[in-house]
Amino acid sequence: MKSGKKIVKIGFDLDGVIVDKPFLIPKALLERLSRGKQENELHYRYPKTKLERRIRKLSHFYLFRPPLRQNINFIKDLKKQGCKLYLVSSRYSFLKRETMVWLEKRKLNNVFEKVFLNLNDKQPHLFKREVLERLNLDYFFEDDKRIVDYLKKKISSAKIYLVNSKQLIPPVFKDVKA
Ligand SMILES: [Mg+2]
Repeated sequence: MKSGKKIVKIGFDLDGVIVDKPFLIPKALLERLSRGKQENELHYRYPKTKLERRIRKLSHFYLFRPPLRQNINFIKDLKKQGCKLYLVSSRYSFLKRETMVWLEKRKLNNVFEKVFLNLNDKQPHLFKREVLERLNLDYFFEDDKRIVDYLKKKISSAKIYLVNSKQLIPPVFKDVKA
């Protein structure tokens, strides 16, 4: 990268952007489990029992969670272009180990300047808002429509994009070079 140019800072959600949903588990059930029942209110549930957390941990074993290769290749490309990249995942504290193992196995542990995990088990949208405000990112990629809508309302400095396994990082973004 040439000197004097602004360094572009880009953040990524993990699940649904870099990590695919686990196969065999229907998406609707996953969402129900993480989101609780209310449709209108933005609230995500924390698995309260030990058994529930154990199941959640097991379902995050790296072989159950395939990588979204196209997005990952794109992310690595941005890194080569000199962008500063940040991972902002609202995975709860009990998934820290599984998350770090996943990143290591997929050789992504050196791609990000910093990995932010929700270690204080806050509500995911609040956690992401806090981190985004602190990082002052230029762009953020997220697969949860409700979080995208929330962040768009609260954060004006970053451009927030909705992406997922079917709707990859928008090609138009490839023109925005560092
Ligand atoms: Mg996600």
